[in-house]
Amino acid sequence: EVAVLRIGHRPERDQRVTTHVGLAARALGARGMYLAADDRGVVASIQDVVSRWGGDFFVEDGVKWRQCIRDWKAAGGIVVHLTMYGLPMTDLVDEIRSLDRVLIVVGAEKVPGEVYGLADYNVSVTTQPHSEISSLALFLDRLFEGSELNREYPDAKIRIEPAKVGKKTVER
Ligand code: SAM
Repeated sequence: EVAVLRIGHRPERDQRVTTHVGLAARALGARGMYLAADDRGVVASIQDVVSRWGGDFFVEDGVKWRQCIRDWKAAGGIVVHLTMYGLPMTDLVDEIRSLDRVLIVVGAEKVPGEVYGLADYNVSVTTQPHSEISSLALFLDRLFEGSELNREYPDAKIRIEPAKVGKKTVER
């Protein structure tokens, strides 16, 4: 099981990015997202996607990040913090893939120093500054080795019929 913990979310300015962290996590094979802030709007928009496009992705706001990390570890899971200061993903991802339960922590503006110590792995996706969405997407893709890309959602109310030109959707 792979889940994401989103920390540092500021409701007044991070709604769109945090929603996209959740949507990227869902589309690229994670089981759910814990949000270390109260934001019903983000929860509602991700749940709306889940209800139409299928799957069982969960999103939980109002989480305390320290407690979330502790509980995850207590249950035998490992914690991967994505940060440009960490060790290269390319060196670590095979080892991480062999582990059972992985919580991926991504930040917003500045991540508390304590997170670096609590994480089992601090992992960089390049050593250049970019984004929580791009780093998460690349990490999940390497973790699942691309197997997430053609996943099907049998309970979807709507799905896309891939087309060379135009937009084809099937509703049920
Ligand atoms: N400057 C902030 C800091 O020092 O913690 C990070 C800001 S960045 C916009 C937001 C998040 O994107 C980070 O917390 C990290 O999770 C992710 N991120 C950005 N660049 C990254 C990279 N090269 N490798 C891994 N994660 C990265």
